[in-house]
Parts: sequence; C-alpha cells; structure tokens
Amino acid sequence: MSPDDRVYAYSAVLLGSPILLKLFDHNQTLAARVFRLIKQQEILLTVNRPHSEVMSINHAAGESPVVVSQPVFELIARARAASVLPGSLFNFTIGPLVKRWKIGFHGNSVPPLAEIQALLALTNPHHVILNDRDRSVFLQKSGMEIDLGAIAKGYIADLVRDFLRQEGVEDALINLGGNVQTLGGAADSESGSWGIGLKKPFAGPDELIGVINVRGKSVVTSGVYERYFELAGKRYHHILDPRSGYPLDNELLSVTVISADSIEGDIYTTLLYGMGVEKGLAYLAARPEIEAIFVTRDGQVISSSARQFTFTLLDEDFHQA
Ligand code: AMP
Ligand code: MG
Repeated sequence: MSPDDRVYAYSAVLLGSPILLKLFDHNQTLAARVFRLIKQQEILLTVNRPHSEVMSINHAAGESPVVVSQPVFELIARARAASVLPGSLFNFTIGPLVKRWKIGFHGNSVPPLAEIQALLALTNPHHVILNDRDRSVFLQKSGMEIDLGAIAKGYIADLVRDFLRQEGVEDALINLGGNVQTLGGAADSESGSWGIGLKKPFAGPDELIGVINVRGKSVVTSGVYERYFELAGKRYHHILDPRSGYPLDNELLSVTVISADSIEGDIYTTLLYGMGVEKGLAYLAARPEIEAIFVTRDGQVISSSARQFTFTLLDEDFHQA
C-alpha cells in the first residue's frame, strides 16, 4: 500500500443517523462541503422538525396546495409513483401512523386499534395531488402527512455521489446510516472494491453476516433491527404495513438492494420488504439492474442474482440458499 492509498474517514451525525464519508485524499474542506450538502437536503425534506418544504405541505393538508422546489417536487413524484404501484406496501403517506407509533423515538407504546384504523383513512397516496405546471403538492384530507423516510437517504446519497464526481473524486464511499453509495473501488484493498458489511440482526454493531463487495454501486439495507421497541415480549419495528397500520410481519429480517442509484435501492428495499422472498425474487427476475439479498428469520441468505457484487458469508448461524 503506497502512502496515497490510505483511506481517510470523516463522520457526522445528520438525518438522525451516523454519517460516514471515506476518501483517499485528506480533504477536510471537501468533507465539510459534503456534510453541508446533506444538511441542506435535511432542511428541505425532514418531517422531524416543525419546518421544512415537506412540513409546509403537511401543515396545509386539507386546505391548500403548496408550491415546492423542483427537486422536492420530483422526489415526491417518485415516492408517489412507488406508492401507487399495484400491490405496493411502500406508502409515502404513512406519516400519521409513523408519528403515532413513534418507533425509534420517545414514548414507545402500541396505539389502540381504533386509533390505527382512523389514521389508516389518512394514508391513501391517491389523495396526494401533484400539479407539475406550478410544482404544487396538495394533500386532500386534513391530517394527512407525507413521510419520505423510506426514500430520502437514497436520494441524498446519489446527490453526494454526483457532487463528489463533479469535484473530480474517483474513489469514495458515503454511508448515510445503512444507505451506502460508492464511487470507484477502494484503492487500499486487494480486490479494488468496497467491502460493505451486511449486519447481523439484533447482534453487536460490528457483527456481520457477511461482506458485500462492489465497485461504483449503491448498497442499501432495510432491516427490522434498525429501529424497534419491545413490549410484553413482542418486537415492534419501524417498517409499517400500510394495510394494517402495524409493523410489517413476514419471514424477513432484512433486505439489501445493490443497484446503480441509491434512490432505487431505497425504494426497492421497502418495496421488496413488503413482497417477501418469493414475490420479491419473481419481481426482480425482470429487472436485472436491481439485485437483492434477503435475510430471513430462519437464517437463510438469499440473493436474486449477483452480477454487480460478490458476497462472502462470515457467520455460521446463516447459510446461503
Ligand atoms: P427504510 O429505512 O428505507 O426502510 O424506511 C423506513 C422509514 O420509512 C420509516 O422510519 C418511516 O419513516 C417510513 N416508513 C415506514 N413504513 C413505510 C412504508 N410502508 N412505506 C413507506 N415508508 C415507510
Ligand atoms: Mg427504503
């Protein structure tokens, strides 16, 4: 390894997550610009603060359309499109339920069924009216709330990649709390690729099921172990089933998507989570550019295909199916 092959890591806490940037040049200024870019996006998209472009839409629910910036409008259009796909369990109007459950925030409790049912009536993505002539977004019912939590990190990871590319960076990695985007490979490694850990669910932070190696690809994971609470022996996690209003209950512990763009990865992890292994694999058969690794409760690691990555299994509790 030559001295200029050394990797420099920069970290911050943004988007409610630990953020990690890896570069092969020591460039504090560039790292600060990346973190500023992420912060600017958070200011536009967050629903965890009283004010943002998205919150201004939510505040005007049932009253009036709100004009937003072009990028925010386009992101909302992507989220809506994913939400209205036939059978999709991705639903960007899940906000009222996310707020009520507060999973991963303070005050964990299971809401009464009647309350969940009342809130479900406010989660129809068809009730979001987009007008691309004036770039306005209208939530038709009072109490509706957009939540971009399942798509925003992927979108931002791609912006970071584009920014770094524009700055002439060839090799870099950005990790937005489980949402990884890469440029090139890792010049310090023998394989010349980035090794991204697939986390072992409900284990220590450094325990891995295996390692996913990629060059210039995005690796996004959605897992039930990311944010959850336990009550009376039951686990309640942060990915909600928009049909029932309760955490999605199926055979999966996590879904990882490997793709060119992280926004696709972020959308697909949530979509595939809702499909489960069998439907998910069938769905991906027609989409070779999107690849997934499913981890099931009974210890299986199932890949749809592996053209864009290699996977090395490390943990004996899991086996590749
Ligand atoms: P992800 O980390 O991409 O799996 O997204 C999880 C986040 O998306 C949650 O923390 C919620 O903010 C939001 N969310 C929860 N359930 C859904 C759902 N069914 N569709 C879309 N977004 C969801
Ligand atoms: Mg997602």
